[in-house]
Amino acid sequence: MNEPLNPESLGIDTLGVRAGTLRSEFMEHSEAIYLTSSFCFNSAAEAAERFANSEEGFTYSRFTNPTVSMFQSRLAALEGAQACMATASGMSAILSVVLSSMQAGDHLVSSRAIFGSTMTLFGNIFSKFGVETTFVDPSDLNAWRAAVRPNTKLLFLETPSNPLTEVADIAAVADIAHDAGALLVVDNCFCSPALQQPMKFGADIVVHSATKHIDGQGRVLGGAVLGSHDFIMGKVFPFVRTAGPTLSAFNAWVLLKGMETLAIRMERHSASALALAQFLESHPAVARVFHPALKSHPQHEIAMRQQSGGGAIVSFELKGATPEQQRANAWRVIDNTRLCSITGNLGDTRTTITHPYTTTHARVSPEAKAAAGVGEGLIRLAVGLESVDDLKADLLRGLGD
Ligand SMILES: *Cc1c(COP(=O)(O)O)cnc(C)c1O
Repeated sequence: MNEPLNPESLGIDTLGVRAGTLRSEFMEHSEAIYLTSSFCFNSAAEAAERFANSEEGFTYSRFTNPTVSMFQSRLAALEGAQACMATASGMSAILSVVLSSMQAGDHLVSSRAIFGSTMTLFGNIFSKFGVETTFVDPSDLNAWRAAVRPNTKLLFLETPSNPLTEVADIAAVADIAHDAGALLVVDNCFCSPALQQPMKFGADIVVHSATKHIDGQGRVLGGAVLGSHDFIMGKVFPFVRTAGPTLSAFNAWVLLKGMETLAIRMERHSASALALAQFLESHPAVARVFHPALKSHPQHEIAMRQQSGGGAIVSFELKGATPEQQRANAWRVIDNTRLCSITGNLGDTRTTITHPYTTTHARVSPEAKAAAGVGEGLIRLAVGLESVDDLKADLLRGLGD
């Protein structure tokens, strides 16, 4: 086996293709998929030893598998984290963080600009078990400070957010968390470690939906929790081992292949998204465009301090005298596309187009939609890897010119 790599001395492109690789006795070049539920021992004594120290060596794939280990090591290297625990999905990563580190009577402060299912998990499910959540405007530092209580254990945010690409100041919110003796959790799904490494700015824990950019090709579900060795091995590993929200070896292998192209994909996603955002900003039918790399973005400076690119998401609002007119204009753009896929998913090679008001945010109350800035005229694009000129032409058909 090659000498293990030292992630600190290598660039992100190198880590994406090389970090974490383990080779078997066959010296395979590409990582192997270990589709086995359990592992054998040479003796009863060795079995007893392995079960006693379950994190060392392989016993059972609910909590240890070589392909999953390679995924964990590579993602930890990319995020600059000491340790990583893989999970079956992004939601099970968030579930694992909360259930392994909080108990009834504890309190959580969360950005209100988060993924819909995360909102439901915090607001409707954890509340049943005595964990209360206060939701705040992610860019309002006073609101974060005011929401913290003596029993607050975690602060949680996504940056940039969905669908308006609101940017939270990771370092400032981390300071608020640490002053309160709490931990900051960042969902780094939209940027991926190729554009943003939240731990560099003081985040304690990073969660991922690997389903999005880490796979990047719309194939499998996966997730991960990253943090200190003590947090991951002391809290998250025992939880996943016992409760079983485990990443499959096959999915881990697909995600390992995804990470090999992550950095170059994110660079292109960001460049194409910015080109489309600038094009839309100059179109007379468009009222407003949201993308962190645009100078007009309200938190442009914070974004450019903590991100090395704007990311794939561009949202834009169509003009219209009434909400009905705005919806008609938005639906006309969506229905006239031939390339863009009409779907709620994101983080794919194929550009997706969504009307958040009636899809991803359909279950959110009209008041909450207004507070989140999601109106009838809003369209969210998750820009893929097609030629930008083709995407412009696809949008122009419904925009009219
Ligand atoms: C999709 C998504 C999740 C949930 O991930 P799954 O893999 O679908 O469970 C969490 N956070 C963000 C920001 C997402 O976009």
